[in-house]
Amino acid sequence: MIDTNRGIDPAGAPLLQVRGVRKSYRSGAGMLEVLRGVDFEVEPAGFVSVIGQSGSGKSTLLHLMGLLDAPDAGEVHLAGQRIDNLPSARRDRLRNTDIGMVFQAYHLLPELSALENVLAPLLVRFSITEWFRRKGEAHRRAEALLDRFGLSERLHHKPRQLSGGEMQRVAIARALVGQPRLLLADEPTGNLDEETGGGILDTLCELNHADGLSIVLVTHDQSIARRADRIVRLVAGRVEQA
Ligand code: ADP
Ligand code: MG
Repeated sequence: MIDTNRGIDPAGAPLLQVRGVRKSYRSGAGMLEVLRGVDFEVEPAGFVSVIGQSGSGKSTLLHLMGLLDAPDAGEVHLAGQRIDNLPSARRDRLRNTDIGMVFQAYHLLPELSALENVLAPLLVRFSITEWFRRKGEAHRRAEALLDRFGLSERLHHKPRQLSGGEMQRVAIARALVGQPRLLLADEPTGNLDEETGGGILDTLCELNHADGLSIVLVTHDQSIARRADRIVRLVAGRVEQA
């Protein structure tokens, strides 16, 4: 329904491919090597969990795949095209059209309501005239997603009026509203009780099966990780098949 005008077209390539990615952070006088040559792939309509101890670099890897940060070495490809070195306007566009991100700390905009937070990616995507033409449709889609996540009674709440689990669900709805082909989710059930978390995972699995949404799910919880088709583990800066 919302024409996504994808930036890149797949041609039988893996949907996402990470090749030889390295990332270090400055730490005092030295360098902290977090990723030391990560190779990782997600097939179209694939669902992969990334596990690893706290501090093993899971969030770092997810941010690199979501083009929020650049690797020191190595490459990130989407549908067969290298994307980590694109000019920043193209990277921003791809993040808006093709990639949905759920952050560990939500990053909702505090002045906006739940509904407005979910609408934000579409406001960014559309020109002003397009927005006025498609506003009704965008609202319907955002409300349907919030409803799907049990938040139909919270549309006009500000983030500070929501619980952690509710903010997390708003953040997931925001990541999905633009109908991305790839969802990158960082501990998306970390703040939810088991039942709510299970419900969210059911919805993600449904989107994966029915709509072919590809998912990378970062978690430290084995039982959540097992919902994916495949699990990889980050150990000592590299990926092992778990
Ligand atoms: P995980 O998500 O697996 O817990 P992270 O990717 O967040 O791990 O972090 C990996 C390591 O890199 C941690 O030791 C963390 O302290 C460090 N780190 C993460 N981001 C930064 C940063 N911006 N600057 C310096 N160190 C960082
Ligand atoms: Mg993390």
